[in-house]
Amino acid sequence: MAQNGETPQSNGGIGAVPNINGREYPFTDHTFDVVVVGAGGAGLRAALGAAEAGLKTACVTKVFPTRSHTVAAQGGIAASLGNMGPDDWRWHMYDTVKGSDWLGDQDAIEYLCRHAPAAVYELEHYGLPFSRTEDGRIYQRPFGGMTTNYGEGTAQRTCAAADRTGHAMLHTLYGQSLKHATEFFIEYFAIDLIMEDGACRGVVALCLEDGTLHRFRAHRTILATGGYGRAYLSCTGAHTQTGDGNAMVLRAGLPLQDMEFVQFHPTGIYGAGCLITEGSRGEGGYLTNSEGERFMERYAPHAKDLASRDVVSRAMTVEIREGRGVGKEQDHIFLHLDHLDPKILAERLPGISESARIFAGVDVTKEPIPVLPTVHYNMGGIPTNYHGEVLTKRGDDPDAIVPGLMAIGEAACVSVHGANRLGSNSLIDLVVFGRAAGMRCAETIQPGEKHADLPRDAGQNSLERLDRFRFADGDTPTAQLRLRMQKTMQSNCAVFRTGEVLSEGKDLIHDVWRAEDSIHVTDRSLVWNTDLVETLEYDNLIALAVVTMEGAVNRTESRGAHAREDYPDRDDQDWMKHTLAWADNATREVRIDYRPVHSYTMSNDIQYIEPKVRVY
Ligand SMILES: Cc1cc2nc3c(=O)[nH]c(=O)nc-3n(C[C@H](O)[C@H](O)[C@H](O)COP(=O)(O)OP(=O)(O)OC[C@H]3O[C@@H](n4cnc5c(N)ncnc54)[C@H](O)[C@@H]3O)c2cc1C
Repeated sequence: MAQNGETPQSNGGIGAVPNINGREYPFTDHTFDVVVVGAGGAGLRAALGAAEAGLKTACVTKVFPTRSHTVAAQGGIAASLGNMGPDDWRWHMYDTVKGSDWLGDQDAIEYLCRHAPAAVYELEHYGLPFSRTEDGRIYQRPFGGMTTNYGEGTAQRTCAAADRTGHAMLHTLYGQSLKHATEFFIEYFAIDLIMEDGACRGVVALCLEDGTLHRFRAHRTILATGGYGRAYLSCTGAHTQTGDGNAMVLRAGLPLQDMEFVQFHPTGIYGAGCLITEGSRGEGGYLTNSEGERFMERYAPHAKDLASRDVVSRAMTVEIREGRGVGKEQDHIFLHLDHLDPKILAERLPGISESARIFAGVDVTKEPIPVLPTVHYNMGGIPTNYHGEVLTKRGDDPDAIVPGLMAIGEAACVSVHGANRLGSNSLIDLVVFGRAAGMRCAETIQPGEKHADLPRDAGQNSLERLDRFRFADGDTPTAQLRLRMQKTMQSNCAVFRTGEVLSEGKDLIHDVWRAEDSIHVTDRSLVWNTDLVETLEYDNLIALAVVTMEGAVNRTESRGAHAREDYPDRDDQDWMKHTLAWADNATREVRIDYRPVHSYTMSNDIQYIEPKVRVY
């Protein structure tokens, strides 16, 4: 075997050079035990685990690993270390179940919260430079919805490296995965999965730098491609958050889960959309309306500004709607940090102090920051169990495993966040389930295990898709369709939803989807063709936007981030179930079905947490 997992003869000995519409697209073939798509926190943790277990592991990523969106995470990572007061993983579990509005699977939530402390200590031992307490322990701050004693007190559970936790974490994990001999394919854009008889056999990727095409054959393909915030106009996420892995799963004829649940973070900077971490409220920051009132006291008398994100975002939206917004247009809210000790700001919130200066022109020690709820996180994604194995519904089995395919991180829906994710629970999800996926690979694959031959037409679907967009000759540039999609999602699938607005949104978003037939790509080359890559990304986003909207129209209740004004109550009788959505690219139709929520725990160490009204 040559370097980079390359098979000696080109095209893997499985036939002639593929030809699409008279154009030849030769493949370079690679063979690995495990191929991870994505080099954010989740992908790196899984890749290093698999490599450490002696498995030949590749990590394919469209951006340089340390530019993945994880690098932007600010506030921290939740784990019940108890460094700043009593804590217990069971309290963390209770908060996560309540935060999820009882849509999370309780066995998976138990797995997350139980293993969180070990995962954080592991990061510490890998060298993550956490902020420290006076006596040298990992510093932990309060975060929204994180409590002690099953909702009674405020927990200090969120471990932080100032307000640059993701930056510290990603660099640490990248260093570790290099140490464990993961082979990186950097600036390779994965196009589609290679599927055979319902099993995943690998993935096809385009090398952005030289335009060559690569076919990766693997026993396990792990999707760690992150969220799809860019389906919306205003989001805190990177421009690379285009849900590529989720869309690949749809194109493979598999369902996505709970896509209607989109988290709006209360404090995006007004206009720019950049995030001001919840950690700023954890350190004592608070919100005010045009009357200078700390209005959160009315909406969440107990937790106030540290209620969970859906609750705070809705309260802000109501204040603005009722005419108590700030600014000339009365269309945003103020976040105050100006009462805090400048020394604390410099030490614990240096990053957001800088963002506020650059993007809002505000000196946080003197003035409030103008903020607005902004799209931040996708609770929905690729359904998996807590080993990271992808699930589908097959006959009567709602938890049927898709052989060869795994998913982790924001791309996945385990589901631990249910209808609403608590702040600092994503970073911990990345490392706990990234680690679990690596362990699952180690348990189920023998290093060097023989590979079956790929089917003769392996990768043909990727090439056809690539070639179709490369030569797309309609009259609408990609950017125009993308803007239409983003505006539709922003105005018709936002913080508050009604049947009427959503139905209109469904028609509009389907119109945008159909308009893809008239898409136009200008650059026909294969070398660093950003026009083509953005078009492939747009094609991914639009399918995800459609299933998000359809899920939202379909779910006639309010739960977590999905707030229907026409159905203001949670309806456990009819709706305590996961949405599954399939999308057919050919007919442009969506099919919806359901999976039961796991209403059991993993062990007897904690009982099932019974649903109750969610107040903070
Ligand atoms: C501004 C901001 C602040 C946040 N702060 C916090 C916080 O303090 N605490 C917390 O818990 N959570 C936070 N979050 C959420 C959290 O950071 C993300 O959910 C998490 O980092 C996602 O990690 P990931 O590994 O799933 O994906 P990402 O880090 O998004 O990485 C995705 C990877 O997939 C690769 N990829 C994607 N598509 C392709 C393709 N087609 N081909 C090849 N490679 C591909 C990319 O190159 C990248 O390497 C924050 C999010 C944002 C946006």
